[in-house]
Amino acid sequence: MNRLFTPNDSVNQKFKSFPDLEIEVDMKREDLLHKEVSGNKLRKLKYNLLEAQKQGARTILTFGGAFSNHIAATAAAGQLLNLRTIGVIRGEELAEDLEKTFAHNSTLKKAHQNGMQFHFVSRQAYREKDTKAFQTQMEAIFGSYYNIPEGGTNSLAVKGTEEILTEYDTTYYHIICVAAGTGGTAAGIINTASPHQKVIVFSALKGGFMKEEIEQYTLRRDFEVVNEMTFGGYAKSDDRLIDYMNTRFRESLTIENPYGIPLEPIYTAKMMYGIEQMVESGVIKGKTRILAVHTGGLQSIAGYNKMLEKKRRLKLSYENQF
Ligand SMILES: *Cc1c(COP(=O)(O)O)cnc(C)c1O
Repeated sequence: MNRLFTPNDSVNQKFKSFPDLEIEVDMKREDLLHKEVSGNKLRKLKYNLLEAQKQGARTILTFGGAFSNHIAATAAAGQLLNLRTIGVIRGEELAEDLEKTFAHNSTLKKAHQNGMQFHFVSRQAYREKDTKAFQTQMEAIFGSYYNIPEGGTNSLAVKGTEEILTEYDTTYYHIICVAAGTGGTAAGIINTASPHQKVIVFSALKGGFMKEEIEQYTLRRDFEVVNEMTFGGYAKSDDRLIDYMNTRFRESLTIENPYGIPLEPIYTAKMMYGIEQMVESGVIKGKTRILAVHTGGLQSIAGYNKMLEKKRRLKLSYENQF
């Protein structure tokens, strides 16, 4: 059995404590599960890849934006399992000069090196990606394939994210926090958290639709969604967030943890910032043990820093440290 299909339980590490309030915040280091198939994307791919193998599929086709962690993870997994991977990527302009695209985009470059074939489409065509017509078109080009939706979320993905929390996690902590894009990871956490635990989900997207998205994959309704911690929208940020990330990374470098805890700017940093705000404003009260899931995605930092540099903004200090 391939190692991808038997991920370990990830380790929990101290992130921050508020001794006066007796609040401890630990991080569950899902980012350390695998070097390339990172964090929750490994969890979400696991049962999909097993299903693809069971069906005898030789090709995986999936979707994403140009910096997608899911695209990166699928390409790497395909390489390891000897499956052909096709990435349908939003942005037809990226196809004009592939050399240039790869020079500017380490996510796509690495996915290409891992053997992924790209099909670049316009934003309009991308919106049609889940239609029968689009699928027929893809089959005409690439032959038959196993389809994994954008962001990797379907019910098999949620089955995988139900393996994130350990028995220890579901007894020791009072609050579990997780960031959400499609909500598939949050659904798996909610499904396996204990009744006494509160799950707080931090949406990375603007708009109030995340609760409904998650409810497609869970029967529980007693979880909370924070929609106001996006720093202006998906993948947006300001200097405050970048400075926070640099500060917490520096503080996380200790004798016991010489590699520290690097956060990425799209999901986990906004969650941690949000948790600290909830503690400081008294929304989260004292004597509380909090577990926040580090869902990985550190591959996006290099591309994000390029963008920050272009805009002459404050950069992340730890691009090359892991
Ligand atoms: C994709 C991703 C998420 C969001 O996961 P969903 O299951 O789509 O909600 C969170 N964190 C990181 C680092 C991710 O790459």
